[in-house]
Amino acid sequence: MDCDLKQLDKIKVAGWQKLSLIDYPGKMAAVIFLAGCNMRCHYCHNRQILNAEQNKISFKAVWLDLSRRIKWLDAVVISGGEPTVYPELMQILSALRQLGLLIKLDTNGLRPDVVRRVVEMKLVDYIALDVKAPPEKYVLVTGVPINKMVETLRYLQTQKQVPYMLRTTLSPRLDENDLKEMAQNLIKGTDCWQIQQCRIEGAYPLDKIKDLVEILKMYVPYIVVKGI
Ligand code: SF4
Repeated sequence: MDCDLKQLDKIKVAGWQKLSLIDYPGKMAAVIFLAGCNMRCHYCHNRQILNAEQNKISFKAVWLDLSRRIKWLDAVVISGGEPTVYPELMQILSALRQLGLLIKLDTNGLRPDVVRRVVEMKLVDYIALDVKAPPEKYVLVTGVPINKMVETLRYLQTQKQVPYMLRTTLSPRLDENDLKEMAQNLIKGTDCWQIQQCRIEGAYPLDKIKDLVEILKMYVPYIVVKGI
């Protein structure tokens, strides 16, 4: 495989998980975490990597390890933090392309220009976009307005090149009406909506989540609850 390892050594990542069975639908995947994020979700579990200075691990080491274990992997997931704020994202994706693994990008959607570019450059095979709240609660949940995420959402809903899923973490700041509004105005028409439990005090318990999912299926037929 032809890859400039010296260049890869200059790129640093925050961490990686050698194998995940739940981060790429139906695939065995490694997950690479890039530090730095342009949101401040009140429930964030990755606070330790919100600051880009936490990217300290050589990407070359990760790439070499992946290249040795290709036969046990189908895919690699680029997650964060928020990967689209990372200046070397294109280099990382291009290097991973050379390994022949499927590539999934996890994004909060605040950089529609970057999402569009990686799709058009055929650098990703799957995208997971976070839709975190209805418009009037986006700032309350994430600290930022919704408009850039909507731009990314509308782009994904109209392009035909890359399959995608939408993901929502069930913040206790969202009520049933918020979720219905999201289902009708943002999510509807999408193939897959993944809902995940929030792990903070006051979070919805699993039995309540199951009840909510039954209600939301009136608007979006295919809903999965992550981890169930
Ligand atoms: S988008 Fe993800 S990493 Fe960024 S603040 Fe929200 S939960 Fe944390």
